Amino acid sequence: MSSVELVDPSSGLTFQQVVELDHVAAIPLFQRCPVAFSRAEGSRIWDTEGREYLDFLMGIAVCGLGHCHPRVVDAICTQAKQLMHTTNIFYIPLQASLAGRLHELSGGFQSYFANSGSEANECAIKLARKYGRSRGEDRFEIITALNSFHGRTMATISATGQEKVRKGFDPLLPGFKHVPYNDLRAIEAAITPHTTAILLEVIQAESLNTMPQPGYLEGVREICDRNGILLVFDEVQTGIARSGAMFAWQTYGVRPDIFTLAKALGNGFPISACLALPEVASAFKPGDHGGTYGGNPLACAAALAVLDTIRDERILDRVQSSGQRFLRHLHALAAETPLIREVRGIGLILGIEFNEPVARKIVASALEKGLIINATTDSVIRLRPALNVKDEEIDRGMQLLKESMETEGA
Ligand code: PMP
Repeated sequence: MSSVELVDPSSGLTFQQVVELDHVAAIPLFQRCPVAFSRAEGSRIWDTEGREYLDFLMGIAVCGLGHCHPRVVDAICTQAKQLMHTTNIFYIPLQASLAGRLHELSGGFQSYFANSGSEANECAIKLARKYGRSRGEDRFEIITALNSFHGRTMATISATGQEKVRKGFDPLLPGFKHVPYNDLRAIEAAITPHTTAILLEVIQAESLNTMPQPGYLEGVREICDRNGILLVFDEVQTGIARSGAMFAWQTYGVRPDIFTLAKALGNGFPISACLALPEVASAFKPGDHGGTYGGNPLACAAALAVLDTIRDERILDRVQSSGQRFLRHLHALAAETPLIREVRGIGLILGIEFNEPVARKIVASALEKGLIINATTDSVIRLRPALNVKDEEIDRGMQLLKESMETEGA
């Protein structure tokens, strides 16, 4: 896709050199698409050849406010010149400000900051266990869902309900049970006197884009209350306005005891958070958990700029109207194409399930045409556009998707 002549200004390498160096020097963990990007703005991104693409993936739901949002860029540059890092053994003013904002937005949750979604979930898992034992009971088991995704560390792959993520890493961490999502009876059946928490994604965004059925989350909350079990939501992908509310649990009106955030919190700067109600958080004592980098001034400056921008640019309203516009397009496409089994989504968490394993071919064809989307399985495509995507970008992207499906005979 890229020629050998052009040099990427940031690395001084041609695309071919990047590919060769990556093959020699990087651990081959990623199946990469044949393209590399060198700059971006909003929903537009340019590859090392100068070719423009419309980005409906945004680094997998990370750059929520679009690439290089000026307010986030300014906050990072200003803070980088002033103070990047101290350590959590001192008070950190910007961390307190960020915790304060999240406290307000969540209605009273307390925050711990880390750097990735997996780390935030690790904290949630440790807190659920510590809480389970804090009441003099031997509670440590966590029930999670099949087809879930919670990260790549040992604890989070043990929590994840997908065999492909876990395979080859035995022995996994004990104490996790997996049940089908949207099945309240399965949860009831999995509960034992040792159960401390139920950990769920509000929407299963890393597999089939599965939505909670009406009453499911309320039912889980009720089961938790009845059994003295914590409800933990992994909002690494669904949090920070993507559902049309600041946190997806607010969209469904079901409050958890613990929830996690990452991805869009820093708009590309790594920062994540584990949030807990004070009565749960108090199970942690000083020294029980921590990290070198989490919540440093630079990361918190980025996250504060994100939250301010979401408020000032009325992003929640925009997500709702853009989500509706996407769904209108997608339903029209589904009506024309028997290959589409179902369109699923809320806000800008959108997925298309096909009747046949055509997702990866359509994604490759879309890339050729200048549209970036992603397949989570052989038959599911997900769209994670910027939260401030423009109407004309939605219309153009949907036209490109339609053409990509036609190219692949869909
Ligand atoms: N949970 C969910 C729901 C996710 O989507 C992801 C990342 N795709 C993670 C956890 C892990 O986050 P990270 O890759 O930042 O560790």
